[in-house]
Amino acid sequence: MKVRKDDTVLVVRGKDRGKRGKVHRLLLKHERVLVEGVNITKRHVRPRPGVLQAGIVERETPLPLANVILICPKCDKPVRVGFKFLEDGKKVRVCRSCHETID
Ligand SMILES: [Zn+2]
Repeated sequence: MKVRKDDTVLVVRGKDRGKRGKVHRLLLKHERVLVEGVNITKRHVRPRPGVLQAGIVERETPLPLANVILICPKCDKPVRVGFKFLEDGKKVRVCRSCHETID
């Protein structure tokens, strides 16, 4: 996977284009990603037993994986990701911009 939990990503498509955020959750089956502070929608929640927060609740909605790109923690730029194998056979991500290992 190019993007993992706790990565910082840049939104490149949609209404939040240009925003940065941390990956909270990956929904691989749906090829979507939940990013902190991005793609917030307001939902109206009726007060009823068991609901702690009624009224208008803001929450993040997952966005398509294709709408985000990884920000390299080493060079702090939105980058393309490559892969390479270490000597012990482990597959790691590599920044195509600064050529640093990302994992
Ligand atoms: Zn880099």
